[in-house]
Amino acid sequence: MSCEFSLAHYRELLLAAQQGGYRFAGFDEAPGPGALILRHDVDLSLGAALAMAEVEAEMGAWSSWFLMTRSVFYNLDSSEGEQAIARLRELGGRVAHHAVWPNIDLDERFEAVVAWHNPDPEYMSAPVDGAVNVMSAPWFDPDHYRSDSNQRWRHGCPHEALARGEFEWLQLLTHPEIWAYAGATMGETMRSFLDADRAARLEHLRADRIDL
Ligand SMILES: [Zn+2]
Ligand SMILES: [Zn+2]
Repeated sequence: MSCEFSLAHYRELLLAAQQGGYRFAGFDEAPGPGALILRHDVDLSLGAALAMAEVEAEMGAWSSWFLMTRSVFYNLDSSEGEQAIARLRELGGRVAHHAVWPNIDLDERFEAVVAWHNPDPEYMSAPVDGAVNVMSAPWFDPDHYRSDSNQRWRHGCPHEALARGEFEWLQLLTHPEIWAYAGATMGETMRSFLDADRAARLEHLRADRIDL
């Protein structure tokens, strides 16, 4: 099995977790033995999030989606954004807030759960008024946390450890863009994302009745 960043391997990773006996969990209760909290920070692409959510639904999995209100890449207030939120929920996902320091825009679209985008150590784990900070106890602990940042797992892809049930519980952070777009490196994957984004924007122009 090759540990590539693709939806095919994400599917294998979910299967490994199921074989390891894990159950899916959110941020509404302290993680107990066997809990697997799937967290997705959606930095660039709602389309990638939806593609990943379809895979989870097919596998009987569900997760927490952290969406940005201040992204330069997507607009949650657009019809596309509203439809994405509705579809993520329809597929069984929970929708929470991916905030840009120091602004928290929690409103009725989100559960009261916050993940900071690219946080500095000073505030990464600090309490957030009226909301759960995903990087604080009891949801965060370095031994119970893995992240796919820039297509680099600091401790290797966790699928084997999940299959063997090695984590007592785990918060697993993945970024949908990294998995949904093709590429053997982060640079290639980002260029695939840009190609898809360009095609989508051409469609938006058409929908705006722009002569192309
Ligand atoms: Zn793997
Ligand atoms: Zn982020």
